[in-house]
Amino acid sequence: MNSFLGLELAPPLLRAISDEGYTTPSPIQEKSIPALLKGKDLLGVAQTGTGKTAAFALPLLHRIAANGNKSLPRKPRALILAPTRELAGQINDSLKAYGRNLPLRSSAVFGGASIRPQIKLLAKGVHIIVATPGRLLDLMNQGHIQLDAVEIFILDEADRMLDMGFIPDVKKITAALPQLRQTVMFSATMPKSIQGLADGLLKEPVRVEVSPGATTAEKVEQKVLFVAKEKKRALITELMTDENIERVLVFTRTKHGADRVARHLEQSGIKSAAIHGNKSQNTRQRALDSFRSGKIRALVATDIAARGIDVDGVTHVINFDLPNEPESYVHRIGRTARAGEKGIALSFCDHEERGCLRDIEKVIRQTVPVKEDHPFHAADIANYFGQSKDSAQGKKRYGKRRNNSHRPRRSSRKAA
Ligand code: AMP
Repeated sequence: MNSFLGLELAPPLLRAISDEGYTTPSPIQEKSIPALLKGKDLLGVAQTGTGKTAAFALPLLHRIAANGNKSLPRKPRALILAPTRELAGQINDSLKAYGRNLPLRSSAVFGGASIRPQIKLLAKGVHIIVATPGRLLDLMNQGHIQLDAVEIFILDEADRMLDMGFIPDVKKITAALPQLRQTVMFSATMPKSIQGLADGLLKEPVRVEVSPGATTAEKVEQKVLFVAKEKKRALITELMTDENIERVLVFTRTKHGADRVARHLEQSGIKSAAIHGNKSQNTRQRALDSFRSGKIRALVATDIAARGIDVDGVTHVINFDLPNEPESYVHRIGRTARAGEKGIALSFCDHEERGCLRDIEKVIRQTVPVKEDHPFHAADIANYFGQSKDSAQGKKRYGKRRNNSHRPRRSSRKAA
């Protein structure tokens, strides 16, 4: 399939897709949209950056509009649950963009923002609600929303819901949904408990999957920089002298770390901001907006704060600290190289992080090439991995490597 035209979406949606500049459906869209338009339940294994939002949002808008434009006070006809406020806001933005030629209203309800306007909107009647679980339960318990008219239910980033402890809330919410409905669930990974949740929620689902390997790890040019912990700040300033780093997402392990790095960058004359769980919703939103609009060049974030952030044109991801969870690495680097663009991920690795790097390389089944041409290269860490880290011998370290023959050889690779 090389165009959206074959997907039988309503013309107002096709016009919006074209306005967005999309010409070709992404693999997850190509696989999901036909099944969803037929009203089937679906289990999608895909992460952010694959185009999964449009994969569920387009058929949702199509089907709700096809069933009439009616909206009832406090009774949405579609419900999308997302784990974070940012993601809920972004999904709602996407619904508005794709649904701009349809007479449907959508609204996001999440914690951290005043509840009054959300209650007012619900009372007026909206067709589609995008919600985080906690705020939705509050609204349900206070009688401001009823779910008995929901025709389509979408659970996005189910594995993040699990990580963040929201599954009990999700179960309370799904118990209030009508039996007769279409259900869609997306998750980046499929641990057993998520499969169990899917089994309980979905009826004879179509399963579609796009492997993270193909969507991120292969498209992102990755480098590791060995550096002593106390030299990391000097290294990031040095790297930022490269003008090719136009828009960079910097990851730290802790909230304080994020603040410290953002402060350090600001003091070095690099416009930046930090986002993490201790910042108010308004501050986070402002930081995101400034990053999107290019007012700031670096956004420093913790893993939780960065979940689901959808900013186009992130040229680089810098892992100031390596994540403890190797899967987080894949999520992090997936913030660059979105929708077919190229991206570069630079990871700092100090003495204590050598184990994390090994675990990451096992998960991605690649050896991350070393970038040595910087003033803070720590040869002793490199030696720990052996001089041949990027040599043929090094590449054999993990038996189950994917075929990476398409990747350029190190000698011909440009410095990042
Ligand atoms: P998502 O995985 O839903 O977070 O989407 C990732 C990014 O891809 C978003 O910025 C979308 O605007 C963009 N996108 C989604 N579908 C397409 C498409 N078919 N062609 C080009 N860009 C797309």
